Amino acid sequence: MGANWYEPLYAGYTAEILQNDAQIINKLGLIRGSVQRLANLELMQMEGDELIHQVDELLKECSVARTLGTSLPDLQTNWEQVKRNTFMYRQNPANEHAVQLVESSEAFWNVSNEAVFSAQRFSEKKLRNFKSLMGLFVITWSLTAWILVWLKRYVRDFLEYLANYDSLTKAANRALYRRVMERECKRARRKNQHLSLVIFDIDHFKEINDTHGHSVGDSVLRSIAGVVKRNIEKNHVFARVGGEEFAVIVPDTSGEEAVQLGERLRKAIERTPMGTAGSVTVSVGVAEFREGDDPITLFERADDALYKAKKHGRNQTEWNGGW
Ligand code: GH3
Ligand code: MG
Ligand code: MG
Repeated sequence: MGANWYEPLYAGYTAEILQNDAQIINKLGLIRGSVQRLANLELMQMEGDELIHQVDELLKECSVARTLGTSLPDLQTNWEQVKRNTFMYRQNPANEHAVQLVESSEAFWNVSNEAVFSAQRFSEKKLRNFKSLMGLFVITWSLTAWILVWLKRYVRDFLEYLANYDSLTKAANRALYRRVMERECKRARRKNQHLSLVIFDIDHFKEINDTHGHSVGDSVLRSIAGVVKRNIEKNHVFARVGGEEFAVIVPDTSGEEAVQLGERLRKAIERTPMGTAGSVTVSVGVAEFREGDDPITLFERADDALYKAKKHGRNQTEWNGGW
């Protein structure tokens, strides 16, 4: 949208105003001339009834134009005076009546000049007002357009968020986990880079639910997610892959380093008090991407490691590096 898209509209409106005003000014000129001619004719003892009728008609036409403002009553009053003096002169063409007729026609000349200026001033004001109105309209319209764009973006981002993140823990959901895993496996294969997966499952979570209730269980899930988010790097992707099972995709990281991360997370969770549930522990399984792996085989090996951690007594980290 060009900045001055409204220019044609403005130009059209301006032309319309100027044309109307030009007509009024033209009529005023005619009136002014006619009154002068009338005075001259009358002074030469020639009756100018046709001119009187013409001025009456022209004044009537001008009276509909708001452009004349307060100068219209002045015009009308002065015209009535000219007419009275004309008839007076016709009845008695004395010198003093001639002077009165000339004086009133000159007064009319001045008043009609003032009417022209007043018409110009009025139309200039109209143009200024129209310009301000257009400016206001453009500002309002731009603001509305900007709000609509922002709202659309906000709703789109919000829907995208709902589609990709778990509402309880704000961790990535399974769908996003799968997409990221596909992408990272391809990248690891193509660039021959490290890629590790850390998964963990809360120990005896059923007991927490049974003892303290489901809502305490929920707040434990939220707290654990908070601990994890505070302890991972920007390029790690944290996801809720089951009810109380989580995963951290760790790109560009060897299995040994991922085990260290798993241990860090496990210890951080263990030492964070979880309200009425007290201390909660997790068992961790780690696997590193190797040739021939895909998201499923990599997860299976991490899950095997997790199973081992559970079997060996829970609250520990196992890894299935493939050696
Ligand atoms: P284990 O140490 O072997 O993992 O024992 P566990 O009690 O954690 O065993 P299991 O994995 O079978 O139990 C998981 C429980 O998690 C069962 C289910 O009711 C609960 N759970 C799953 N999702 C949610 C949830 O969103 N909120 C709550 N409060 N509980 C959940
Ligand atoms: Mg489980
Ligand atoms: Mg469990």
